[in-house]
Amino acid sequence: MRNGIVMTEIDVADEMLSSLRNWVEAEVIPHASEFELPDEYPTAMASQMAHFGLFGATISSEFGGLDLDNITYARVIEELSRGWMSLAGIINSHLICAKLISKFGSEEQKLRWLPSMATGELRGCFSLSEPDSGSDAAALRCRAERDGGEWVINGTKMWVTNGEKAGVVALLARVPDGENENSGGITCFIVEKVPGKEGSGGITISRKIDKLGYRGLETVEMSYVDHRVRHDQLLGDDEGIGNGLRWALSALELGRINVAARGVGVAQAAYDAALAYAKEREAFGRPISQHQAIAFKLAEMATKLEAARLLTYEAARKADAGERVDLAAGMAKLFASETASELALDAMRIHGGNGFSTEYPVERYYRDAPLMIIGEGTSEIQKLVISRALLAED
Ligand SMILES: Cc1cc2nc3c(=O)[nH]c(=O)nc-3n(C[C@H](O)[C@H](O)[C@H](O)COP(=O)(O)OP(=O)(O)OC[C@H]3O[C@@H](n4cnc5c(N)ncnc54)[C@H](O)[C@@H]3O)c2cc1C
Repeated sequence: MRNGIVMTEIDVADEMLSSLRNWVEAEVIPHASEFELPDEYPTAMASQMAHFGLFGATISSEFGGLDLDNITYARVIEELSRGWMSLAGIINSHLICAKLISKFGSEEQKLRWLPSMATGELRGCFSLSEPDSGSDAAALRCRAERDGGEWVINGTKMWVTNGEKAGVVALLARVPDGENENSGGITCFIVEKVPGKEGSGGITISRKIDKLGYRGLETVEMSYVDHRVRHDQLLGDDEGIGNGLRWALSALELGRINVAARGVGVAQAAYDAALAYAKEREAFGRPISQHQAIAFKLAEMATKLEAARLLTYEAARKADAGERVDLAAGMAKLFASETASELALDAMRIHGGNGFSTEYPVERYYRDAPLMIIGEGTSEIQKLVISRALLAED
């Protein structure tokens, strides 16, 4: 309620997005490169994101989160990515971990982890990929074996974004035959660790991966040697045995809408930069925007950007309506991620030599955009998901 007027959920979302937009304009866009180029963690920006409540963006208000619907969350991710895509990465895998706990955890597990995750005091990450398995997630080798009331974990995990700062890891590991009817299956454990480089109790951050883009936040390799977790850290308790991969893939379906939203944000930034530069830069006696080749390029960019945004919002709308979203999320992720890469290159071309300089942000968009084509299922995997859904429709 404000001035005696009841505010609707839409008003609240718009107000939050408007504050976020002002912050991105004032604090993120002018300073992103100062952190991104030296690969430095943006501590103050992460604190401000916590202040906005973004670590609890999709966590239920029952546990102190904002409980945003998928459309609003997609708009938040788009806005952050327009400023600097890495900021979206700081919360995305944290919220995938929270989503798994919210959707499949026992009441006791929700109460144990979600309230401190909602404030950002406890940070989460998601660990499915391994050195020898990515797209083929079912081939993972990390193992968890029962020993009385505990499980002993051994294996190596790759590409763990936020792995160093996280205090909880949604870890996918294979349990041996004979545990229950889903034996031999992949199971999700909520591993607790001490945030920081050294790790704890048999967990080591074996290396920090130096990346082309998506810099400023850590993506690491993590090794588990005889790391012990209590049985009550098995997500969903006994029901979780062998259900981990299915649950993780369902959380990734929503993750794909968020990667699509990141693509829209980067594509918007690339388009905005290209438009402004084309109006200002002169060649052959007129602004380059007056040359038809550049004007048409801008027209194509704006059209693809709009299409990517509409696909992303439509997938989010379907998810909010409780509809099946594998097809819509796959299409949105495929199109928006490819669009981000195309528009980043277009923006670089329009900037000529300046596009190749670190003094202009387009080189960052060009380095960041390909991640969306890879993470949470490559474009080839999206085409598999889309074609399977189409073929199953009749
Ligand atoms: C910066 C970064 C951050 C990441 N963060 C995380 C994270 O936090 N947690 C996590 O678990 N993972 C994370 N990942 C891993 C990411 O999800 C994988 O890289 C991705 O799923 C692809 O797996 P891969 O790298 O093993 O490639 P591969 O699976 O080896 O694929 C190689 C190529 O083969 C193609 N291919 C594979 N199978 C098929 C097929 N059946 N048909 C056609 N083509 C195929 C792929 O499309 C790709 O072009 C991250 C990756 C990066 C780069």
